[in-house]
Amino acid sequence: MFHEERCDFCGDCLAKCHYLPFDRKSGGEAFKKLVQGEKVEWLYDCVTCIACNEYCPKDARPFDLILQRMEELRWQIASRPKENPSQWRRLSGPCRCA
Ligand code: SF4
Ligand code: SF4
Repeated sequence: MFHEERCDFCGDCLAKCHYLPFDRKSGGEAFKKLVQGEKVEWLYDCVTCIACNEYCPKDARPFDLILQRMEELRWQIASRPKENPSQWRRLSGPCRCA
């Protein structure tokens, strides 16, 4: 479980990550967006190595929040309405533009 009350947004978790391009300042800002529930593109580049839980000096367990956000994202994608194939039917058949 992520411990928000321990996090001071120091940015160490993302700055020390070997897979994401952050320094401490940008990492702190990026992590704050994740905590606030904003959409963050960097989530797609996380390889779920869990190392950020070790990097956090406050033992706030940032990876637990990262994983939670990934699961929320997966759920959103899975619950989107499926594309309606009938919308493409009128585009099939012989060309009528001549
Ligand atoms: S989770 Fe830990 S390392 Fe990451 S910003 Fe918060 S306190 Fe710093
Ligand atoms: S779990 Fe993701 S954010 Fe954390 S150290 Fe690994 S790749 Fe980086």
